[in-house]
Amino acid sequence: MMYDIAIIGGGPSGVLAGIKAASSNSKNKVIILEKNNRIGKKLSITGQGRCNITNNAPIRETLKKYDKKESKFIKHALYSLKNDEFLDIFRNKGLEFKMEDNNRVFPVTDSAESVVSILNKYIEDLNIDLKLNHEVLNVLNDNDCFVIKTDKNEFITRKLIISTGGITYQNTGSTGDGFRIAKKLGHSIETIKPGLFPFIINDSNLTSLSGLSFKNIKVSFKYNNKTIEENGDLLISNNGVTGSVIINISRKFIKLEDYDLLENKRNFKKETIFIDFVSQLNREEIKDDIIKASKTNKEVHNYLRKYLPNKFTFYFLNKIGVELDIRMNNLKKTSRNKIIENLKHFPIEIDGIIDKAGFITVGGVSLNEINPKTMESKLIQGLYFTGELLDICGPTGGYNLQIAFTTGSLAGESASNSLNN
Ligand SMILES: Cc1cc2nc3c(=O)[nH]c(=O)nc-3n(C[C@H](O)[C@H](O)[C@H](O)COP(=O)(O)OP(=O)(O)OC[C@H]3O[C@@H](n4cnc5c(N)ncnc54)[C@H](O)[C@@H]3O)c2cc1C
Repeated sequence: MMYDIAIIGGGPSGVLAGIKAASSNSKNKVIILEKNNRIGKKLSITGQGRCNITNNAPIRETLKKYDKKESKFIKHALYSLKNDEFLDIFRNKGLEFKMEDNNRVFPVTDSAESVVSILNKYIEDLNIDLKLNHEVLNVLNDNDCFVIKTDKNEFITRKLIISTGGITYQNTGSTGDGFRIAKKLGHSIETIKPGLFPFIINDSNLTSLSGLSFKNIKVSFKYNNKTIEENGDLLISNNGVTGSVIINISRKFIKLEDYDLLENKRNFKKETIFIDFVSQLNREEIKDDIIKASKTNKEVHNYLRKYLPNKFTFYFLNKIGVELDIRMNNLKKTSRNKIIENLKHFPIEIDGIIDKAGFITVGGVSLNEINPKTMESKLIQGLYFTGELLDICGPTGGYNLQIAFTTGSLAGESASNSLNN
């Protein structure tokens, strides 16, 4: 049977593409091919099983989370499916939402499965042909149609949407197949790396402080003579550091590393990140405060408790070579300068990354080759790419599912519109 629109991948992006393709015109024959025995396997573990489905920040704020190229690319998709309209898709079938800190949106059920279950209802109601346990092995572009070869049989379609996700958390089905298929079809793939992961630090003095956390600090590193920064919370873990600021900066930090998950290349080169523990104060303000405190005979580690967690002050002073119990009124200028410098720019060498723990994939189908207004390939008419497969990734907070759903929706609608024209 010839399909009008076929979608490879039954993740959030592919399923919403299918829903839009089928609901835009009831005559469209739509098929979703999914290699797992269910849809949304990764979706069901998002947000620790609670599904942080999107982020409700105004779109102009959301766009600031991306670099210039990504932001230019995703703008149209975000405006084409604004949050309210998007959440209505679920509300219309009885699922309500709540907002938590930092504009993060979750279903009131606190269950990602309830999101998956609504997607399944749509598939049924819209008569979308869902083929589970069908692994797509190859795609041929045959004049006005595409031939999709799976491990079971072949399907022919007029429009094809590829939504196979990234390459991390492979047990959920995203094993990088879409990158290989896109490459064979002539698309360029920006180097595939992990993103949103914790850092390993081989410093037992630091990791013995596991559980200590820092609120709203700034972390930075240098890339191509530019300083890359992130703000957020940091947590010392039993093998390094994690927390929102680390997870979010990791997607940019990985640029420094010679990694290519598609080629199984993992050459980790040690790099240093810098922590600003007191981003709300500048060096002069800290200096004035230390000079004021120098009139007292407080021990320096006690003084530092105003800036750092108590237990960390000992580690900090040891690391920068300042005596722990020196009194503030005996603090030498060199020690004072060391304290100021390290409160603002404390170096931590990263010894490794936990790439398997990467929530997302960095890199993917080059954005230069995709029309941001439709998600259609600029190289092959009738071919669309969506979701994590694309060379765009957001920070934590619901932004990645937002990319998956909005690009999927746009591709589904565009594919349907192009059939009607
Ligand atoms: C643990 C974890 C928690 C996360 N939590 C959040 C969160 O709370 N909020 C958020 O915004 N983001 C979160 N993310 C990221 C988010 O899950 C992804 O960005 C999103 O799932 C990407 O959607 P997608 O549809 O593009 O790809 P996927 O969800 O990976 O779906 C791709 C689908 O394609 C199928 N497929 C692949 N290859 C083939 C093939 N050859 N043939 C047939 N089918 C194929 C796969 O089986 C899969 O079902 C989390 C990620 C992880 C790993």
